[in-house]
Amino acid sequence: MKLAIIGIPGSGKGTQAKLIAKEFKLKRIAVGKILRNEIKTNSRKGKILEKYMNKGLLAPNKIVNKLVLKNTPKDNFIIDGFPRDKRQLKIAKKLNLDKVILLTLPKKEVRKRINKRKKLQGRIDDKKQTLETRLKLYDKNFPKIIKHFKNKLIKINGNQTIKKVFKDIKKELEKIKCKS
Ligand code: AMP
Repeated sequence: MKLAIIGIPGSGKGTQAKLIAKEFKLKRIAVGKILRNEIKTNSRKGKILEKYMNKGLLAPNKIVNKLVLKNTPKDNFIIDGFPRDKRQLKIAKKLNLDKVILLTLPKKEVRKRINKRKKLQGRIDDKKQTLETRLKLYDKNFPKIIKHFKNKLIKINGNQTIKKVFKDIKKELEKIKCKS
């Protein structure tokens, strides 16, 4: 199975991607996490990434696309947080995705969740102003992405308990597993 999971910030992509990877024995590629780890190494690339992520902007495509191609196997994977803009769609084509899971969540709930996460994890991009930039970028880029994947999309209501969201995703993925 070749999967991607996308959605508005705070919709639970990371949490669900972990559960899906475990259940279906897939490699998880968490783009945001890999980028944050690069920042922690204090490398030159990390310094560049920090500037973008601090502002809530998308990391440069050159870095992201290379990282995605390097870390993604031929099959049995779930990529979390990719693609996020039009140019990344080109690279996404090379991954030959079977399905794209879209997690939805109302903005009011997004702000509530991210505020809570900021207190718990202190992520550099969870600050109030940074979040607003990320939400603007989401509004700008996601309609194209959703349209592009319309035949592969599994739309899931992310405004439910972790367990229920996972149950809904699992039900959909089992359908495609049965077909293959
Ligand atoms: P996430 O952990 O998925 O919420 O991503 C956190 C941050 O990492 C984003 O706000 C971006 O700055 C960066 N990032 C994650 N995925 C991508 C991507 N596909 N392209 C560019 N930047 C990304």
